[in-house]
Amino acid sequence: MPTCWKCGQETSARFCPHCGAIQPPASNYFDFFELPPRLHLDTSDLEHRFYALSRQLHPDLFSRKSEQEKAYSTDASAVLNDAYRTLRDPLRRAEYVLSQNGLEIGEQQSKNVPPELLEEVFELNMALEELRAGDADAVAPLEAAARKFQGMQDEIDAGLDAAFAAYDAAPGKAALDAIRALLNRRRYIRNLLRDVEAALAAKATA
Ligand SMILES: [Zn+2]
Repeated sequence: MPTCWKCGQETSARFCPHCGAIQPPASNYFDFFELPPRLHLDTSDLEHRFYALSRQLHPDLFSRKSEQEKAYSTDASAVLNDAYRTLRDPLRRAEYVLSQNGLEIGEQQSKNVPPELLEEVFELNMALEELRAGDADAVAPLEAAARKFQGMQDEIDAGLDAAFAAYDAAPGKAALDAIRALLNRRRYIRNLLRDVEAALAAKATA
C-alpha cells in the first residue's frame, strides 16, 4: 500500500485517514472517481460524484494549508475537470479506454475512405464540387446524401452501444478493436457531414 507523503503511514485514500492530508490524485480517470473501468456508465451518478469532489477538493479550502497540500489540491481539481469532461461523453470515454489500452484513434484523413463507402463518397464529392462551382442542381442530391450518412451515423451509434456492452461483459483486445473500427468510421462520416453542411450553408448565403 502507498504511504502518506506527510505522516508516512499507509493509505490509499484521497485524504490520509491518519493525518488528514490530501494525497496526490490518481491519474487514471476511473480510479479518480472510484469507478470500475466500464464503458456503460451512469452519468447522473458521475455528475453526483463530480459535484461532491468539487466541494472537497476546491483550492480555496486549502488556502491556509502547506504549499504541498495547495499543489495537490490544484492537481486534483485539474484531474477532476479533465476526468469529468472525458467520462461523461460516451465517445470520449471510449477513446480514453482505448488510449489506456495502447490503442489510439488515428486522425482520420479524408483520403482514407472506408472501402465499403467508396461509391457513396465518390458521388458525394462530385456533388460537392458541382455545388461549389455554382450548380444549384447539386443541392438536392447533397441533402439526400447527407440524410444517408446521418442514417449511417445513427447505425454506428447503435453498434457502439452494443460494442460497449460486449466490452463491459468481456474486456479485451477483440472488443476494443471492434470499438476502434466503429469510432474511426464514425469520425470519417462526421467529417464528411460537416463538409456537406458547410457547403450547403455557404450556398444558402451566396
Ligand atoms: Zn498522513
